[in-house]
Amino acid sequence: MKRRIILSLWFILCSFIILGLCDTALAGGTIYRSILKTGGLLAAILGIVGISFAAYVAGKDYDSYTGWERFTHGAGMFFNRKPFTKESPTYRMEGPTRRVEWIESLEGRIRMFEQLLMHPNGGGPRWAPSIGIEALPEPLKSYYNRHPEDYNLMIKGFDLMEKQKADWPKFSTQFAIADAWSKSMGSLFDHPDEAQKLDNMYPPEPAGPPDEWDYRNIRREKPLPFISPSHASQLIKKVTHTFGATLVGITKLNPDWCFQSYLRGVGPGEYKVPSHWEYAIVFATPHEWDQLYVNPVYGSSFDAYSQERIIAGRLESFLHELGYPARSHAPPAHYDLMMPPVGIDAGLGEQCRMGLLLTPELGPNARLACVTTNVPMEADKPIDIGVLEFCRKCKICAEKCPGGAISHKEHPDVEFGYRRWRIKCELCQNVWSSVAVSGSSRGCRICLAVCPYSRKNNWLHSMSRNIDPRDPTGLVSTALLWMQKAFFKYPEARDFMPPPQGRNATYHEPPDWLLTEKWFEVKKNW
Ligand code: SF4
Ligand code: SF4
Repeated sequence: MKRRIILSLWFILCSFIILGLCDTALAGGTIYRSILKTGGLLAAILGIVGISFAAYVAGKDYDSYTGWERFTHGAGMFFNRKPFTKESPTYRMEGPTRRVEWIESLEGRIRMFEQLLMHPNGGGPRWAPSIGIEALPEPLKSYYNRHPEDYNLMIKGFDLMEKQKADWPKFSTQFAIADAWSKSMGSLFDHPDEAQKLDNMYPPEPAGPPDEWDYRNIRREKPLPFISPSHASQLIKKVTHTFGATLVGITKLNPDWCFQSYLRGVGPGEYKVPSHWEYAIVFATPHEWDQLYVNPVYGSSFDAYSQERIIAGRLESFLHELGYPARSHAPPAHYDLMMPPVGIDAGLGEQCRMGLLLTPELGPNARLACVTTNVPMEADKPIDIGVLEFCRKCKICAEKCPGGAISHKEHPDVEFGYRRWRIKCELCQNVWSSVAVSGSSRGCRICLAVCPYSRKNNWLHSMSRNIDPRDPTGLVSTALLWMQKAFFKYPEARDFMPPPQGRNATYHEPPDWLLTEKWFEVKKNW
């Protein structure tokens, strides 16, 4: 696009130069007068055409869509995936695979504890740490009997949360803007009555089985038929971008990625993956970059979370209006499936050491949601941009994680029949319950911030993104990593923790707009 604008401007400039030369020659009144007159006229016409063309091109450019610039129109998905597409994803299967039990996800366990402790529906809490594992309801009890170390970490987390709450007044002035910003972004999930939060979400959480809930707003007798699967994918991707998504991909849904033993809108129990969950439309938006780089204490998850929920709700509604079933799976933790592998299958990126989806444009700073549907669409292919090899050498996220939650191993482990680096979620959760922030609104995203792929789009990063995946020798990634470690200073992992263990460090210096003392009359005591 830029090249076309430059060419048009060059063309206009040439036309004006020719016009100028013509004028000078005309003043002489020679035999060439009529030729020059015609040439001048031609140049004038070409000039006008050139100006019109340049104006047309500039008007079509996404940057002219004030307020709806390139990210909402898909130009933020600038990486050319075509040379890197593969028939199968880069994750490897090892023996028989199985669906993950809902209770094996940290979110599943937290949701059960919430119901026991914080959503008592009128009565008091139905469990307390002092009562122990045996008094827990199933499937929590069996899970913790199999994994007592996770239980101990969860109990420790309750204590850390209490301490975090008690310590917050010490930091609340210093991080007042960050806190207000985060809570404003999270106001989408807000409700004065904790127990009613889920009911007030947009889009609403499922309140029935998929065969009813996913069809609930369909008013057409029959779905509007697309001309072809390719038309369907093109339109749906375009529309999802206008709904606010930076990246969009489509895949056939692998049922292995759906949780077992729990289904939103139905509850605990085995279920067969519904046949209309045939495809997943996967989309991603990044966290605001300034706040990402000043994690954990100035950071938030709610900005990208709320964006993703809004997109999910709009897309679900769009498909219902066209007559198709649709169900959104969106943050903070409202999924019936695991998002990273679905994003990998949809060609948005690859798996990485920290367990998230790593994309060429946003690195792992790509919060994910999807809508499952049966619209017949053309699926995207997975890509291989060499992330596994890069992660093998890099380990920066593991070195800088304050909780030690990310694996340092050279090669991925095997879990559920798939190769992936294991994340110790309870250790991560306990950092969330310890850093100097106001509870659940903020937590930690240091691993996203320090990853060499989580970089804004400038020429240097664009060059690295394109050269490294094409280098079969691995020398480019070695050189890039050397530069990363030699030229960028990182705080030590423990520095991210509050005093006395750490010093509330941030990966980058905070920007002006997040500094309370820059905008408010406060007594600075930090
Ligand atoms: S969010 Fe923080 S604690 Fe959790 S894995 Fe990332 S760096 Fe570690
Ligand atoms: S920080 Fe390094 S090891 Fe971690 S995900 Fe990013 S590239 Fe991989």
